[in-house]
Amino acid sequence: MRRLGDVAEAVGGLYIVAGRPELGDWKPQYQVWYSAAEGKWFCSCGRRACTHIAAVQLYIAYRRALEMSQGAYLYVAEAEVECPGRLEANGRLYLKPSPRGFKILVISKRGRIVVKCGGYVLMELLGEKMPAAAAEALAEAYESEK
Ligand SMILES: [Zn+2]
Repeated sequence: MRRLGDVAEAVGGLYIVAGRPELGDWKPQYQVWYSAAEGKWFCSCGRRACTHIAAVQLYIAYRRALEMSQGAYLYVAEAEVECPGRLEANGRLYLKPSPRGFKILVISKRGRIVVKCGGYVLMELLGEKMPAAAAEALAEAYESEK
């Protein structure tokens, strides 16, 4: 998925999103902007709904959360796992199928995120600390992204 670091703010309300070939991008960067007159987002890739726009919206939600959040932090970790049994984590677990098993996103109150498969510890991940609202925005984006 796209990273917050892929998005940069330019002058005049323009956002620059770094292209990622593994996500089907064919240009090194894309411009995304909001048209108040038309009430919608546009992207230089020309598609009506694209992940560049989604990345910018996430970035904006993250920035807003950073400004507003007063000490409410959560930890987020992503991984790809193979697990034939039941997957669990010490936090909220979001998962989607991948060729090798599952891609998972865990949002936890603890920095050390433990993922279990069939009751056994499969891996421990170091969560990335971020404002709670930003973690929620990330989870929302994760779920909507196929
Ligand atoms: Zn685009």
